[in-house]
Amino acid sequence: MSKKEFVITGIDCAHCASKVELKVAEITGIKSVSFNFISKILSFEIIQGVSIAEKVFEVKQIISTVEPDSVISEKITTANNHNSIFSKVSTNKKSWFSLFTLSFTTGIIFFILGFIPILKPFSFFIFFTGYILIGGDIVLKAFKKVFRKSFFDENFLMTIATFGAFAIGEYSEAVGVLLFYKIGEFFQDKAVDSSKKSISSLLKLKSDEAFELMPDGTTKLVSAESIKKDTFLIIKPGSVIPVDSVIIEGNSNIDSSNITGESLPLFVEPGSSLLSGYINGSSVLKVMAVKDYSESTVAKILALVENSAGKKSKTENFITKFAQFYTPIVVVSALAIAFISPIILADSFDKWIYRALIFLVVSCPCALVISIPLSFFMAIGRAAKSGILIKGSCYLEALNSVKTVVFDKTGTITEGKFKVSEIIPEENISKEELYETASYAEFYSTHPIAVSIVEGFDKKINSDLIEKYSEIAGMGIIAKIKDDFIIAGNAKLLNRDNISFNKDNIFSTSVLIAKNGKYIGRIDMSDSLKYDTISSFKFLNSLGINTIVLTGDNFNSAQKAISSLEGTIFYSDLLPNEKVEIFEKIQLEQKYNSKVAFVGDGVNDAPVIARADVGFAMGIKGSDASIEAADIVLMTDEVAKVAKAIEIAHSTRKVVIQNVIFSLSVKFSVLILGIFGVSTMWEAVFADVGVAIIAILNAMRLIKIK
Ligand code: ADP
Ligand code: MG
Repeated sequence: MSKKEFVITGIDCAHCASKVELKVAEITGIKSVSFNFISKILSFEIIQGVSIAEKVFEVKQIISTVEPDSVISEKITTANNHNSIFSKVSTNKKSWFSLFTLSFTTGIIFFILGFIPILKPFSFFIFFTGYILIGGDIVLKAFKKVFRKSFFDENFLMTIATFGAFAIGEYSEAVGVLLFYKIGEFFQDKAVDSSKKSISSLLKLKSDEAFELMPDGTTKLVSAESIKKDTFLIIKPGSVIPVDSVIIEGNSNIDSSNITGESLPLFVEPGSSLLSGYINGSSVLKVMAVKDYSESTVAKILALVENSAGKKSKTENFITKFAQFYTPIVVVSALAIAFISPIILADSFDKWIYRALIFLVVSCPCALVISIPLSFFMAIGRAAKSGILIKGSCYLEALNSVKTVVFDKTGTITEGKFKVSEIIPEENISKEELYETASYAEFYSTHPIAVSIVEGFDKKINSDLIEKYSEIAGMGIIAKIKDDFIIAGNAKLLNRDNISFNKDNIFSTSVLIAKNGKYIGRIDMSDSLKYDTISSFKFLNSLGINTIVLTGDNFNSAQKAISSLEGTIFYSDLLPNEKVEIFEKIQLEQKYNSKVAFVGDGVNDAPVIARADVGFAMGIKGSDASIEAADIVLMTDEVAKVAKAIEIAHSTRKVVIQNVIFSLSVKFSVLILGIFGVSTMWEAVFADVGVAIIAILNAMRLIKIK
């Protein structure tokens, strides 16, 4: 399977976008097609064994049939050429703009001249000239497509509506409709453009250039995209960190809010790591890149927000299908109104043709076709601003039906920073020796328990002494150190080897240690809830969402941790595969449409994250596997961001519903009034354009929600 992405510019009707999508999906050998009208990216997968060149050719043919004026270019996202939608906002707009304004303003002059009484005998010619100057391109596009047999779109609706108006002698209406349609289109373009801009500036992530430190001590200005791992850079005060890096020299206060949403400044010193997108405070820093640009956080976030458009929500997919049938139905109904009603009612044709034209004008589906994807796009951008990376609008939509959120304990709702509360050795062994044994055993593990133990060890570890090492998920470590066989883990691990120990008095997370098959003592560790766990659980519960905790830790320690979370139930002593089983059971218990989310820190939870209807991973502590498996990544590891994501999902749904109800009801009213002869074509075009603009402005509001 190979994935292809094309940037298609010059598609200016949202409806054609959905047509492209549907037609490409019909090609044999092509799978999972998605075209996003906002980002203008068409992505699809070509099945193995099929000629890629051939399929790409077929796709290009379809695009040029549906939209003859479009320009297709392959989307390249390599380190050196990140031609993202964010760097491509409004190109080629200038030349188009001047030509557009010239003919457009002349057109308007003709339109006004047409109303002057003495020029009345020439009014047809005057209005028609204005018509061509203002909307000639629309008519041209509509005609081009008739020959390509794919003509049911907005341009076609407008062209027949205005031609019809000329035919029945309503010249000024014909020009007026096109004029306002054009103005509306212009505003829609602007709105979509500015929404892209507002997302990219909200993220304020990209730094285009950076200063590379050369071996001779001078600096050279290089493009951020060309920076490779291990390059030394000088970061000036106030500038954006271009790639993920580590500080070599200098201290500073960093603004990390772009990436993490955290507003307090972060103090950094030599050795501290910096993510790309952070903004340097007031001092100069010397740093070393730890990743290539393309592998850095910013590039990944931008790619994610862009690609999120590929995984469409059900609502968006519905609109795509809807638009396909909609226009033909509208045209057929208009024909019926124009020619059947006058026959049945023995009425004048002119009157009913006029009413049919109103029907055509008001039926344009733009308001929905543009505003719904735009709402999701804005909301995903808004979430990214808070450090919540949502991988697709489908997940954002699914969050609305989440009725249960299941959390992992260690590292997810707790800090995952353990403090040693007690070291309890058996006789004949000192505390120091016990702790040293544990530190050696845990040296290679990335589990929060292990990291905390190793960090607390004050001597140097000679890793050559660790001869064998293996980690058993959800249990602990088995290692061979020098000539000793060491086990460090929980009761389950020791029980496996029938090693006896005193089970009583274990009230915290304990690492039990055995040497050569004999229990030698334990280290009691304590962890604390994250600062926002209690408030976030309360908030979720107040929304009617159940909270459940799953943990591999023992019952006592789990109970202690959960005691302050009223109404939350927990399951303890779980192995990673048992977490999956319990999770699936919880999913089965849900009532019809309710969904279950899972939030994990990634250590051992990737399988559950993947299984969840909506899987959250912690972005800082999370392993690569879990970030990969997750649908939503929380860059700050804060529990509160789960609630925030759900809130954003609710707001998005509200805006989408508002837009659907608003645009359908306005259009429907004008339609009814039109059929009864009350409204005119003027009202119809205002309803069409006005509704579209209001719906778009409403969608754009999502970027600003608190
Ligand atoms: P949680 O579900 O709370 O995130 P894990 O599944 O990661 O916990 O681990 C479950 C239990 O397994 C821990 O509480 C600990 O007792 C034991 N364990 C896992 N890894 C280690 C390790 N590296 N060293 C010691 N004990 C470990
Ligand atoms: Mg965990």
